[in-house]
Amino acid sequence: MIVHLDKLPEYGSKEFSGEIAPELLDLADDKDVKLLSGLKYDLKIQKLDTEVLVRGCISLDVEVQCVRCNCTFVETVEIPKFCKSFEIKDGKNEELDLTFELREDIILAFSLYPLCSEECKGVCTICGKNLNSDECNCSRESENRWSELDNLDI
Ligand SMILES: [Zn+2]
Ligand SMILES: [Zn+2]
Repeated sequence: MIVHLDKLPEYGSKEFSGEIAPELLDLADDKDVKLLSGLKYDLKIQKLDTEVLVRGCISLDVEVQCVRCNCTFVETVEIPKFCKSFEIKDGKNEELDLTFELREDIILAFSLYPLCSEECKGVCTICGKNLNSDECNCSRESENRWSELDNLDI
């Protein structure tokens, strides 16, 4: 996403909205994440004396894998109040490429431990059944072990 600084108004801000194509985001190597959309942006960009102020909302639809039950689900990663300023160096950078900046910020907004739901029960550690949709009769020692851990005073 390239902003031509000379096309920004002297006063006030200009609105930019659109989508950065998924292939430009270069996230294909990340196997844990599948992009379902480009990076959508809805930004107000304002030129000040020595800086350019970029504010607004950016979001990305991704398919991720639940860390508990391994199911895949769709998540919208969103930064509703994106706000950043970029220095204008001697009027030299007449073009401001925001692609990299937006990409970096949205990656930081990805959840490290995606859960399909807060109540996700995960999979049985013995038979591997998804406990969200199935019950199993395994006696899961591990659960008891975890609750013992809870009682430990660390
Ligand atoms: Zn889950
Ligand atoms: Zn089981």
